[in-house]
Amino acid sequence: MRRRRARRRALWLAVAVLLWFHSAVALAQTTAQKAEAALLPTATAIEEIEIVEHNVLHRPIELTAGHTHWIDRTYTYGGTQQNLLPVHLGVEFVNARDTPVYAAKAGRVIFAGDDSKALIGPQLQYYGNVVILAHDLRSLAGSQVFTLYGHLNEIHVRAGQLVEDLERLGTIGSSGVAIGPHLHFEVRVGDALDYKQTRNPELWLQHYVDHGMIAGALRNEEGEAIHGWRITVRSDSAKREVSTYGGGEVNSDPVWRENFTVSDLLAGEYEILVLDESGRPTFFEIARVEPYRTTYVEIVLSE
Ligand SMILES: [Zn+2]
Repeated sequence: MRRRRARRRALWLAVAVLLWFHSAVALAQTTAQKAEAALLPTATAIEEIEIVEHNVLHRPIELTAGHTHWIDRTYTYGGTQQNLLPVHLGVEFVNARDTPVYAAKAGRVIFAGDDSKALIGPQLQYYGNVVILAHDLRSLAGSQVFTLYGHLNEIHVRAGQLVEDLERLGTIGSSGVAIGPHLHFEVRVGDALDYKQTRNPELWLQHYVDHGMIAGALRNEEGEAIHGWRITVRSDSAKREVSTYGGGEVNSDPVWRENFTVSDLLAGEYEILVLDESGRPTFFEIARVEPYRTTYVEIVLSE
């Protein structure tokens, strides 16, 4: 018999979303030292951390009909497609070849070209034609934030160039290790060229109008993350499935310590259902998603 317990918190934006940039970054920096000092692996410390959301990046695909500007739910950050694929260190925007790709934020191009001679992934020629931008943006712990755009067909920028918000960077392709045309989008923190420094882009992308998201952690009683379990999030009108992060190079946000996220949820009530390794339901809870906010759910399973 399993005992189940969960703590649930809604995390409130300290600033209006429309004022996100200066306010959110300033807040993030003022809370950074406190957050770092509070990074203790105990439940008490987690509860005390003041968390600032950072959904500040534009979507790199045009927000119009005919374009897939939502992330592909079958291979989310940390996912493995039931161990068929390597653990995913970014998210996919699946679109037709030569769909334009835009800068998620203003910044400087620090890499533009194919990665046949520069190791920026697990192997050479992994991302194919790829652009990396450095942004004037810091993580909660104070590290610089970068975005990466992989598997491009054409590249329209060059290294050293400054780009504006939503400036065109190139077009979607399937260069490098890619099955079919799509954009592989990463957020990296601290070291632009180190593929082991990614974070979950869902925590960084802006919400749709009146949408919010759920982020959470699934742990055992020792506080260890449980890898690769399926979680279903559903309401009367929507159903999303996600797996908790696989192991390896995938990173939780050091402050949030999440191991799953489901973004792009219209505000409202959602059922969260956790399935164990054999697909048996093992935990159920109702959570409320507020517009432009993240509802954080911590689920601790014990035998
Ligand atoms: Zn990918």
